[in-house]
Amino acid sequence: MDDVVSYDESLAASDQRHLIHPLHHPKDHANAKIFVSAQGAMLRTADGREYIDSLSALWNVNIGHGRKELAAAAAAQMEKLDYASAYAGYSNEPAIKLAERIVGLAYDNMSAVYFTTSGAESNESAFKFARYHWKRLGKPNKVKVISRRYGYHGVTLAAMSATSLPNYHKMFGPTVPEFLQVAPPYPYRWPGNGDAGIGAAEAVEEAILQQGPDTVAAIIAEPVQGSGGVIVPPPTYFPKLREICDKYDVLLIADEVITGFGRTGQWFGMGHWGVKPDLMSFAKGVTSGYLPLGGVVISKRLHDVILDAPADEKFMHAATYSGHPVCCAVGLANIDIMDKEGMVERAKVQGDRFRAGLETLSSLPCVGEVRGIGMLAAIELVEDKGSRAPAKGLGAKVVAQAMDRGLLLRVRAAADGPPPSGDVLVFAPPLSTPEATLDRIVQIVGESIQAAM
Ligand code: PLP
Repeated sequence: MDDVVSYDESLAASDQRHLIHPLHHPKDHANAKIFVSAQGAMLRTADGREYIDSLSALWNVNIGHGRKELAAAAAAQMEKLDYASAYAGYSNEPAIKLAERIVGLAYDNMSAVYFTTSGAESNESAFKFARYHWKRLGKPNKVKVISRRYGYHGVTLAAMSATSLPNYHKMFGPTVPEFLQVAPPYPYRWPGNGDAGIGAAEAVEEAILQQGPDTVAAIIAEPVQGSGGVIVPPPTYFPKLREICDKYDVLLIADEVITGFGRTGQWFGMGHWGVKPDLMSFAKGVTSGYLPLGGVVISKRLHDVILDAPADEKFMHAATYSGHPVCCAVGLANIDIMDKEGMVERAKVQGDRFRAGLETLSSLPCVGEVRGIGMLAAIELVEDKGSRAPAKGLGAKVVAQAMDRGLLLRVRAAADGPPPSGDVLVFAPPLSTPEATLDRIVQIVGESIQAAM
């Protein structure tokens, strides 16, 4: 990263005047970092500072920053075929090849891909696939979507309604009708001594029975709840949930926007528990964030229903950029790199090592739990270890301390629940992060927590 950068005050001032940022509040944006370049797990800002990127930007830069192969793939495709419609009747080679590749990597019941350009759009599409499916099968009232508290599925209107972190709803309600939420499989915060996996799956069954199975289209679930605080379910949860979905004819949508493409040490997350969803949303890691791309993979059972439809019941869902050739070419180059460099296996091995490092911080009085899987990890902060009283506000102080030490860190703020939980520091470094950098993250986090306490 030897580029020459000049920090331009007028750029920051122009940003303040003209740009609305995600989750915008002027106070949060008063001293914004303006990123100018990146390499591997490092980001560089316009004022010449370097930071370790402990979240792969937004859980998406799986292969790490600055891979020239992806830039070359984008340039080559843009020169050959920049864009063309992929609406029915048209197609392009990168979209075809990437769909085939993803179907090959995903669960063995999967059959076809619909491409989007974001995680929220993938989930919006998944909800529509589910409703379409039941309407085609003569069950037009199966429209409801169940999600779990602490779930994050994006913030377009229906996706926001499935997202169950209340601060995303407060200023935008009401949520879309026919979306409801149940308890998450959150072992550290599960009330009572029972198995959180079985208990949380039974909460889904109760909701289905209460609503009436003939009204429920689908449940959407991240294999590991990411933005909600890297909540890893007990091994009992997904097998039991699959059983319940089968019993009541409810589709299981795996939201693998974070867990997809190697993040958890397998290509896709539900593989850890031997469970196959009916639909799988993906985005982020499919291009490692180099270009916006997402999609939904659907099972053969759903695909057949689309292929058999009469003309007046065709799948009238669309987007201009579905199957964008340049994004798909970058997706193919990204998967090639992951494959050739063994990044999925690396995520498992290095993830275990990284988590073992974070575990050494467990002795600090405010560290309630260290958890994770593959290259996903979290530290839940508490005020008191015995009672697990949630720490509120400590996370933001740790983040500020870490920033001073050259580490970009993200916190999921304490939430009232149910169940209530404390600030959670979340980690998802690039799968390619060198061991020394992972060790440095652990060291800085330890120092930052102690300084913040
Ligand atoms: N689903 C999950 C699990 C996510 O973590 C996210 C974003 O973090 C989304 C969906 C939404 O993706 P996007 O921000 O691309 O709309």
